[in-house]
Amino acid sequence: MDPFILKIKIKSIFAETKFMSGFLFDELIFGPVHSRRLGVSLGINLLPTDNKYCNFNCIYCECGWTTKTKGVKIVLPKRDNFKAKLETKLKELQGTVNEPDAITFAGNGEPTIHPKFAEIIDDTIAARDNYAPKAAISILSNASMLHKKSVTDALKKVDNNILKLDSAIENTFNNINQAQSGISLDKIIEGLLAFDGKLIIQTLFFRGEYDGKIIDNTTDEEVEAWLLALEKIKPEYVMLYPIDRGTPAKDLVKIPTDELEAIASKVEARGIATKVY
Ligand code: SF4
Repeated sequence: MDPFILKIKIKSIFAETKFMSGFLFDELIFGPVHSRRLGVSLGINLLPTDNKYCNFNCIYCECGWTTKTKGVKIVLPKRDNFKAKLETKLKELQGTVNEPDAITFAGNGEPTIHPKFAEIIDDTIAARDNYAPKAAISILSNASMLHKKSVTDALKKVDNNILKLDSAIENTFNNINQAQSGISLDKIIEGLLAFDGKLIIQTLFFRGEYDGKIIDNTTDEEVEAWLLALEKIKPEYVMLYPIDRGTPAKDLVKIPTDELEAIASKVEARGIATKVY
C-alpha cells in the first residue's frame, strides 16, 4: 500500500528491495530503525516479500503495478510463523535501546486482505503487551476491507489506523485507485464512518494523465467533495502527501508544497487537524 504515504517514508528508512518499477519490503518483520518521527520502529509486512499483493492498483503506487494473480501462487506469511517471529524479535529487543516505540504494518500491498488479519492483530497486541508495552501499533490500509466486520473490529483495537481516501468522487477514485471490482467509494466511506472519528486519513494529491484521462484530485470540485467527506468522517487528523518517488504511471505531476498547504488550511478551517508531508 502507499506515499506518505507514510509507507514511502517508512520504506525509505526500512530495508527494501527494488522490484520491477517499484520497491518491495524483503522481510516479514523489518527493523527496528530509529526515526525522528516514529521513534524506534519495527515494521511488519504481511504480504509476500517477492510480489506486491493488493486489491487496488493505484497509479502512483511505489510498489509498482498490481500484477494479475490468477494462476500465480501467492504465499502469505502463516499466522503461527508470524507470531513466533514477532515474539522472538520483541523478546530480543526487550529492555534494550532498540525496544520499539512503534510497530507499523506497512508492507507490499494491503495488509487487511490477509485471511488471518484479525487473529494476527490479536497476536500482535498480546506480544506488544508482553514484550514492548510502550509500542503503538499503527496500520496503513486502503480501507477496502472495512465491510468485513472482523477487519473493522481488529482495526479498532490498534492505536493508529491510517486509512486512505484520495478522492470523494467515484470517477476519480476509480481512475486513481483502480480498485478490484466490487469495491466502491460509497462502501469505503461507509466503513470510515464506522470508526466514529478514531482514525487518521491519508490522501495523496497530484495531477496528471493516465490511459488517456486527465486525473486531478486538487481541483476545487475535488477538494470540496473531499472536505465534505472529511466533515462526516471527523478524523483525528489528515495526512497530506505529494508524490515522492517514481510512479508506475509516468505522466503524474508532484504538486508544490504551497498548494498542499493551501488544501491543508481548508481542512483546518473545518476544525480538522492536518499534517503536510
Ligand atoms: S493501496 Fe495498494 S496499490 Fe494503492 S498504494 Fe497502497 S499498496 Fe499500492
